Amino acid sequence: MRNISDCVDEIVGEEADEKVIEERNKKDIAFIVFWCLLYVFMMVVQAFTTVMFAKSIIAQLQVAVAIVLTARYYKRGYVTAIILSVLSIANVFLSMLIPDVPFSLMGVVIPIGTIISITFLFVIMRKLYHSMREAKEQREELIKLAEEAEEAYEEVRKINEQLIESSRVIKENEERLNHMALFDELTELPNRRMIINRLDFHISFSAKMNKKFTVVFIDLDNFKRVNDILGHDRGDIVIKKIAQRVTSTLDSDDMFGRLSGDEFAILIQRDIEKAEILDYIEEIRKAISAPIQIEDEEVSVNASFGASAYPKDGSDSTELLKCADMALYKAKSEGRNRVEFFSHEMKEEIQSKVDFEASLVAGINKEEFHLMFQPQHAPDGKKLRGFEALVRWRSEELGLVSPVQFIPMAEETGLIIELGTWIFREACRKLRTAMDTYGLDDIVLSVNISTIQLMQPDFYDIIESVMKETGVYGRNLEIEITESVFIKSVDSAVEVLNKIKELGISIALDDFGTGYSSLHYLRSLPIDTLKIDKSFVDGINRAESEKEIVGSIISLAHNMNLFVVAEGVEVEEQLNFLRDCGCDCVQGYLLGKPLDEDDFNATLKEAAEYRATAESPDYK
Ligand code: C2E
Ligand code: CA
Ligand code: CA
Repeated sequence: MRNISDCVDEIVGEEADEKVIEERNKKDIAFIVFWCLLYVFMMVVQAFTTVMFAKSIIAQLQVAVAIVLTARYYKRGYVTAIILSVLSIANVFLSMLIPDVPFSLMGVVIPIGTIISITFLFVIMRKLYHSMREAKEQREELIKLAEEAEEAYEEVRKINEQLIESSRVIKENEERLNHMALFDELTELPNRRMIINRLDFHISFSAKMNKKFTVVFIDLDNFKRVNDILGHDRGDIVIKKIAQRVTSTLDSDDMFGRLSGDEFAILIQRDIEKAEILDYIEEIRKAISAPIQIEDEEVSVNASFGASAYPKDGSDSTELLKCADMALYKAKSEGRNRVEFFSHEMKEEIQSKVDFEASLVAGINKEEFHLMFQPQHAPDGKKLRGFEALVRWRSEELGLVSPVQFIPMAEETGLIIELGTWIFREACRKLRTAMDTYGLDDIVLSVNISTIQLMQPDFYDIIESVMKETGVYGRNLEIEITESVFIKSVDSAVEVLNKIKELGISIALDDFGTGYSSLHYLRSLPIDTLKIDKSFVDGINRAESEKEIVGSIISLAHNMNLFVVAEGVEVEEQLNFLRDCGCDCVQGYLLGKPLDEDDFNATLKEAAEYRATAESPDYK
């Protein structure tokens, strides 16, 4: 037998297996046929029975069958039950035709009542089925929603997991960034930002508590050279080692950090006297300067210190740092490896330097520079060897400025590289024009070259390209360098000078006698010309002993095959003495001051005419 949910499934169209449905249909039809046959049998019995009681029992059984059919087989059952009930009514009327069978009104009333009842039942069932169908649909919908919710939950769970992972990574990165933002990667020391933060904090604290403290800037002297010689990796090791040494010397109340490359700072967060600060810095200075062993090399690095005091020198971090920086600048310019405390005079001094530097930059941009040419003659005073090119600055703001003033400033600021290249190019151009005009093919033009220029890696390339560009020959050029070149870096200077010499350019050592020079030392240097400084020439008419010095320099230089030029010759006596000593060439106000372009041309013209009549001196 089927149960009610089977019917519901059928009504609501449950997707049952086709075979099962077919099987079920067959079964249903068999039962319906069975019930029909039973009903018909009962009808026949009823028609022929005369006993009223039996008739009513049969009628009630028929009602039961109709109800069972309707309840059990729904539409089919209901339709069958209606047909059977109609047949029952027809049977009543037909049974009237049978003799002796009395007409039973009940036989008509009961089927009609049955029709009404089962119709009623059918309607109720129909409603029930509909409700069940809706309930089923809702249930399915709910199941679907529950499944979707579960899927969504799973998705959310996964996203949540990803979010937890991402936030962990973000947190880690944030911590790393925070560390990187406040600490120096190489030394693990607080960086500039952290130092400034602490300085700001300390200023507000000290302002409230009416306390004093000190900021010290540290800069390693010539650290670039350490990097150049040892390489950057070893340079980093030196920095780390110095950082460790200072940290272990540091008072626990103070803060030590790295500002940049070879610059550090200490915040002496204590109110101590200047003498105590000096002792403290001295201890740190010694710790830095002690030799550092790196593999098989030993290096020593000195440091310069600049200090500023709160609240005396400034009331905010910017001002205090600026003052410490100025003091450091002063310590550097006063010979390094020392400490300076900021003072207000220092500020003015530096400010004027800064202003001067700005004017110098403006001067270069406005092309306010020009060259003068000081002649160099044979000691007979007649034969012209050539000229020394000397730069001049006619500043719109400052008037005529001496190279003694602006060349050191240009060197300090690095502007000499640009200015020096301009000077060399301008000198070559003038030389080219002079040679084209006057055809003096053995004339020599001397150009002063700063040590800073010579130390530039592209110095040789610049010289070579300017020569090509202007079409001058090396044999007509001489560069004047000073001994500081060799003091800074002998090997690299010798290397570049040898290359320059291959271009045919001769090398003159300027201001001989003013530095550390010894004739023995000169032997290892690739120079061709020695320029005896004016201070020695001045001595000629001062004392006999000084004359002897000049004479010895000339003869020793000649022993080394050097060409000798005496500078600053102002009087006849000097000229005569130099000539007697065999000096090769003289330069000075006596024979000619630095000449402007017109006088330079006039001198060249005169020399060309002289050459035409007399034999030129053989200088080389
Ligand atoms: P320096 O190279 O020793 O140049 C010689 C200086 O002595 C020149 O001064 C010249 O005018 C001066 N002088 C020459 N003869 C006499 C004399 O008989 N008596 C006196 N009292 N002085 C004489 P200047 O032109 O003022 O140059 C000064 C210094 O500036 C130069 O010394 C040189 O070191 C530097 N300088 C000049 N021009 C240049 C340049 O083009 N490049 C570079 N790097 N430095 C230059
Ligand atoms: Ca010179
Ligand atoms: Ca000189």
